[in-house]
Amino acid sequence: MMVLTKKMIEIRSMLQMIGKSDTLLLPSIVVIGFQSSGKSSVLEAIVGHEFLPKGSNMITRRPIELTLVNTPNATAEYGEFPALGVGKITDFSQIQKTLTDLNLAVPASECVSDSPIQLSIYSRNVPDLSLIDLPGYILINSEGQPPELSQKIDDLCEKYIQSPNVILAISDAPSDLANSAALRACMRVDPRGERTIGVVTKMDLVEPSRGASILRNRDYPLRLGYVGVVSRVPQQSGGIFSRSSGNFTDSVTNNEAAYFSAHSAEFGKSSELAVGIRTLRTKLMRVLEQTMASSLQSTSDAVQQELEEATYEFKVQYNDRPLSAESYLAESLDAFKHSFKEFAESFGRAKVRELLKGELDQRVLDLLAQRYWNKPVSDLAPSLPEPDPLSALPKAGLDSVYWQRKLDASTSSLTKLGIGRLATTVVANALQSEVDRLIAESSFASHPFAQQAITAASTGILNERFLGTSDQVENCIKPYKYEIEVNDSEWANGRQEITSVLSHELKACEAAVKSVENAFGGKRKLQDVMSYIDRIRKGEVVLEGNGVGGAGGFSAALLAKGREALFLRDRATILRMRIAALKSSQCAHPASKYACPEIFLDVVANKLTATAVLFLNVELLSEFYYNFPRELDRRLGRGLAKTDVERFAREDRKVRGHLDAIRRKELLEKVLGKMKTLNLLEESERREGHRE
Ligand code: GDP
Repeated sequence: MMVLTKKMIEIRSMLQMIGKSDTLLLPSIVVIGFQSSGKSSVLEAIVGHEFLPKGSNMITRRPIELTLVNTPNATAEYGEFPALGVGKITDFSQIQKTLTDLNLAVPASECVSDSPIQLSIYSRNVPDLSLIDLPGYILINSEGQPPELSQKIDDLCEKYIQSPNVILAISDAPSDLANSAALRACMRVDPRGERTIGVVTKMDLVEPSRGASILRNRDYPLRLGYVGVVSRVPQQSGGIFSRSSGNFTDSVTNNEAAYFSAHSAEFGKSSELAVGIRTLRTKLMRVLEQTMASSLQSTSDAVQQELEEATYEFKVQYNDRPLSAESYLAESLDAFKHSFKEFAESFGRAKVRELLKGELDQRVLDLLAQRYWNKPVSDLAPSLPEPDPLSALPKAGLDSVYWQRKLDASTSSLTKLGIGRLATTVVANALQSEVDRLIAESSFASHPFAQQAITAASTGILNERFLGTSDQVENCIKPYKYEIEVNDSEWANGRQEITSVLSHELKACEAAVKSVENAFGGKRKLQDVMSYIDRIRKGEVVLEGNGVGGAGGFSAALLAKGREALFLRDRATILRMRIAALKSSQCAHPASKYACPEIFLDVVANKLTATAVLFLNVELLSEFYYNFPRELDRRLGRGLAKTDVERFAREDRKVRGHLDAIRRKELLEKVLGKMKTLNLLEESERREGHRE
C-alpha cells in the first residue's frame, strides 16, 4: 500500500520541477503551531535527527518543504537541497547550518518569505512523507521584531493550510488548548475537523490525568484525532528519562515510552488514547496516503489539461520543432564553421596580397613625402628664406650621387621596415576581425560564453604562429635589402600602380581641402588667411610674436587651419605634378629610376609583397584554416561538459523559452504516465480491499 505515497511523492517532486502552478499540487502535511510549542522537536523525532535551526533568536523565516524518502536497502542517511545543487549531505549538523544560513538570508525588513526551502531526506529510518514546516505563530511582537511580523506569519500559514493539505496542528499540553493558535486556524479552514491531526506536545509537563483529558478534547473533535507526545531529547540521565543509547530516535522514543508506560493507567491500551511519536508517524503515513489517493484523479485531470495547453503552445509557438541544448549547439557550431569555410575560400593569396600592398603603398607615400616632396613649411621663422617646396624634386643632374643616395636610402628604409612583423600583423588582424564579424553575424552573437571561446581559439592560433611567421617572412625578403633588379614589365606595372595610388591620394587631398573650407565657413575667408601666411613666408609681412595669440586680424585657430589648408594645397600641387611626370616619357624606363622614385619604390613594394604573401600563405593562412575549426570543436563541441552546453543554450532568451516549453511538455507527459499507472494500482488495491 505504501508504494502509492512513495510514487506520489516522486510525482510531487516532478510537479515542483515543472514550476509553480496552483492546479498542479499534490497534498502535503503542513505543520503549524505557536513558537516554542514543540514543533521542531516533533519533526526531528519523526526524522530521527536534529537538523532544524535552533537558537534563542532563530525564528523560521521561510517554509521548509521537507520530503522524506524511505530507502529500505541503503545504509547511509543523507539530505539534499535540490535547488542548491550541492549534492548529498550526510552530516545533519551541516544540513542544520545550511537551513540556518538560508533562513538568515531573508532580510529582517521582509520578516518572512513565501519562497520555500526544499529539502529531501533519504533514510531507511524515515517513512515516505511530504511535510511543510512553517514559521511558528507568535503572540505579541517581542523587542526588535518588526510590528508586522505576526500578521505576515499568519498570512503565510493561512496560504498553506488550505485544502487538500493535511494540517498537523501542534499545541503544548501546559497551555490551554482553547488558546492554541494552531487549532483556532484549523477551525476556520477545516470547521468539521476533516483534515486536521491534533498533536499535543510536552505531555510530561502536566498531570497525567489532565493530559489524558486534553487528548479527549470534546470542544473541537477531529476525525483524525489527537496524539499526545513527549518529544524532547532528555538532557540529564536518571529518573524516568535516560539516554539509553547514542541514537537520537531511540533516545526520544524510549524516554517517551518510559513516560507513557509509567502512567499506563491513564494512557494504557485500554484508554484508547493515541500517544507516542511512533503512533503519530503511522497515522501520518496512513492519512497522507489516503489524502493523496483521493486527490489522484483531480490532479491527474489537472495534469492532463496542463499537458494539452503545453502541447498547444509548443505547436503554435514553436511549430512542434524539436530542440535540445546539444542540438542547438551542434547546429550553431556547424553554421559557424560553414560561414568560416566560405570566408576562407574568399580570403586567399590574392586578398592577402591586396591587403599587404595597400599597407606598403601607405609606407611608400610616407617615404616619398618625407624624402622628396615635403620641405619644412615655416611661417615662424620668416627671416630664413623659405625654400620652394617643389625644388627638392629631381629635375636635373640625375647622374649625381645625391639622387642615387636619396633613392638608395629610401629603398633601404622600405626594405628594413620590419616587413615580417608588419605583414604578419596586418594579416593576423584581418583574420581576427573577420572572425569577429562572423561571430556578430552568427547565432553566437547572443552568447558571451561561446564568443569568448571562439575568440580565444583564433587568438590562440594566431599568437602561436606569429613569431615563426614573422621571422620566416623577414628572412625571405632579406636579399632585397642588398640588391634589387627591375625589368621592363615590372617597371610598367609599377608605373601603372603607383599612378593610380597617387591619383587616389590626390582625390583624398582635394576632399580634405573641401572639408577645411566647409569648416571655415567659405572659400573666401580661407583664401584670405592663406594669402596672409604666404606673405609671411615670402618675408613681405613680419609675424609679431610667434602668432600664438593670433596675427594679422586672424585668431590662432584660424591661422592653424590656414596652415593646414596650405599644406594640403601644396601636397595636391605636388601630386598633380608627379602624376604628370609619371605619365610622361621621362618615366618610361627602369633607367630613369632616379627621376621617378615613385615607380621604383612601388616595384620594391611589389617584390616585398609577393615574397611575403608566399610565406604568409603557408605559415599563417593554411595553418589557421586547418586548425581553427578543430580548435572550435575542442572548445565548443565534444569537449564541452553537459552543464556548460545547457548553460550556453539558455543564454539565448528564445532558445531558453523553446527548451522550457519542451521540457515542460516532456515532464507533464512523464507525470501523466506515472499517474495513469498509479490510478490502475489504486483501483486494483481498492478491489482487493473489497474482496477481503
Ligand atoms: P518550536 O519553537 O515549536 O519548534 O519548539 P521546540 O521544538 O524548539 O521546543 C521548544 C522547547 O520545548 C525546547 O526547549 C524543547 O526542548 C522543549 N520541548 C519540546 N517538546 C517537549 C516535550 O515533549 N517535553 C518537554 N518537557 N519539553 C519539550
